[in-house]
Amino acid sequence: MTDSAVIVGAGVIGLATAYRLARDGLAVTVMDAAHAGAAGASVNNAGWIVPIMSAPVPAPGMLGQALRWMARKDSPLYVRPSPRPDHVRFMTSMLRHCNPRDFQQGTEALVSLNERTLSLFDEYEKDGVRFEFHRTGQLLVFTTRQAMDGYRATTAPVERIGHTALPLSGDELRDLEPALGKNVRVGLHCPQERHVDPSSLVAGLENRCQDLGVRFLHDRRVTGIRSRGRVVTSVLAGSEEISGDLFVLAAGVHTGPLARQAGFPLPIQPGKGYGFDDTSGSVALRHSVYLGEAKVAVTPLSDRLRFAGTMEFGSFDATLDPHRLRGIAHSAHAYLPGFPPASPPRGWTGLRPMTPDGLPVIGPLPGKDNVLVASGHSMLGVTLAPVTADIISAQVKGGQHASAMAHTARPFAPQRFAPRRGRDAVRRAA
Ligand SMILES: Cc1cc2nc3c(=O)[nH]c(=O)nc-3n(C[C@H](O)[C@H](O)[C@H](O)COP(=O)(O)OP(=O)(O)OC[C@H]3O[C@@H](n4cnc5c(N)ncnc54)[C@H](O)[C@@H]3O)c2cc1C
Repeated sequence: MTDSAVIVGAGVIGLATAYRLARDGLAVTVMDAAHAGAAGASVNNAGWIVPIMSAPVPAPGMLGQALRWMARKDSPLYVRPSPRPDHVRFMTSMLRHCNPRDFQQGTEALVSLNERTLSLFDEYEKDGVRFEFHRTGQLLVFTTRQAMDGYRATTAPVERIGHTALPLSGDELRDLEPALGKNVRVGLHCPQERHVDPSSLVAGLENRCQDLGVRFLHDRRVTGIRSRGRVVTSVLAGSEEISGDLFVLAAGVHTGPLARQAGFPLPIQPGKGYGFDDTSGSVALRHSVYLGEAKVAVTPLSDRLRFAGTMEFGSFDATLDPHRLRGIAHSAHAYLPGFPPASPPRGWTGLRPMTPDGLPVIGPLPGKDNVLVASGHSMLGVTLAPVTADIISAQVKGGQHASAMAHTARPFAPQRFAPRRGRDAVRRAA
């Protein structure tokens, strides 16, 4: 019988899970290493709710492109040379997934996962989670038709769940967003996509969790996990020991080492992103806008315009490389000429939890009966937070609830990372 849950990590994934389990009637404790409130990727992101972008990061040709960009200090995709064995193993494994078959299967799995994303966000609002929510749609804009056609192949599979990407000419795009420059020749209008202020979402979830009686323990970095056989009994934060019936590992890029302590390492590595907020008012937008070739996200929030981009592998800390920030500002100017190209405002970074196959890791940790993982959401953690929490909730309840979700959840099971021989042993023991 599961009465209490301990969630490690108060990012958007941990908070969405805490909220869902508290609504199910569990006594929930959330532990986080940060001093107060969520930090890092869950607040430093573009805030898009975008099922239309259900394509995994490892795509055919993707790492080849990164290698061609190695010498450019402002490129949107970069693999930092690093001798760390976990980084080398991760990149080698990701390279193996950059093929058409895995890309297509991964996209199909993410599309199914995103089927209820919008309705789950609507339920948040109805249940009193307060956050800044925009339903104004999205534009994906390009300077060449070739780039748009390439991108369109990834949006087509999402139509089966009711998300559309309608091709428009440059002038039609400018009718919708006059700030777009003449360089923009073609684009896709995605009216169903939404965006949020990510800080308001995590604050709204934390507040609603507190209403539901969730206990928050900030300033608690989990450094140890105690087990008795197949059961984890407690987690350790310094000298403090917190016990529970169930444990959810939702520690973003730090989930891998925690899972290792529980006996099953997971290949989750950081994909560093950069961004900055512009309050000058030099450009006004209604839609969120993806600057296609530059891979930059622009998000209009109530009091600022947020720019975000860059995928840097091999960087494990939050340090800010000004070249990458300038790269984002320069490309923004090429699509939005009203935006000044020089000296972007003070920026920020966020570490996306990446997996080698580009799919999140959601479900039971092999070898332990009461540990679940919710991590590895890459570029889609905000979008996928509510459905991740739903899967965890169904798996905790078990029975019919778990069966109803089993098909959707299967591609994301941590067990896919078991070594082949271990995978057979885990299957036999289950
Ligand atoms: C530039 C950028 C733009 C993005 N844009 C979007 C977007 O538009 N839409 C979208 O859906 N996604 C987007 N993402 C991705 C999204 O931000 C992430 O997938 C998501 O934030 C991951 O959330 P998380 O809760 O798993 O991890 P995190 O936000 O990293 O939270 C993990 C938490 O765990 C805590 N923690 C870590 N280790 C421990 C420990 N040992 N003990 C206790 N606590 C611990 C940390 O302090 C942290 O609070 C973007 C990301 C970036 C960087």
